[in-house]
Amino acid sequence: MAERVVLGVSACLLGERVRYDGRDKHDPDLIAWLAPRCILVPVCPEVEAGLGVPRAPMRLEGDPCDPRVVVLATRQDVTDLLVASAEKRLAELVARGVRGLILTPRSPSCGVGSTPVYAGEQPVAVGDGLFVRVCRRCLPGVPVVEAVRPWSVPAVFDKIFLD
Ligand code: SF4
Repeated sequence: MAERVVLGVSACLLGERVRYDGRDKHDPDLIAWLAPRCILVPVCPEVEAGLGVPRAPMRLEGDPCDPRVVVLATRQDVTDLLVASAEKRLAELVARGVRGLILTPRSPSCGVGSTPVYAGEQPVAVGDGLFVRVCRRCLPGVPVVEAVRPWSVPAVFDKIFLD
């Protein structure tokens, strides 16, 4: 039997109730398909940075090429906290031999090219969440994809292994 590869997966996709509102984004079809083939390592950049559940909503703001993550209610800028935590977590994943990441769309942390970036009250662009930006810097060449619906499981999987 082929060795199962290691994938990082957004913890909320796995059914963990780690979203800001205490809910999950469980995707049972995706997880059922991946589980026999891969070792799935849950990743939640916001909880791992110590932001807790539930937590105040955040969003990307500012320069779409270098956005900040800002807590809406308090205007706290948590970018540096999230970057430091992401770098540490990604080093752990590299040590485990991670081959790719499958993450949740539109999140200020996990979105892959789908997360709105705001200037004032208006979204002015869409781009990568902060965790994905750190992934691209720290894990060049490691595929990072979104679990976008409707998706084809083989297509998601092929992206991880063939890109
Ligand atoms: S930070 Fe990522 S893993 Fe955590 S709840 Fe948000 S989308 Fe899910």
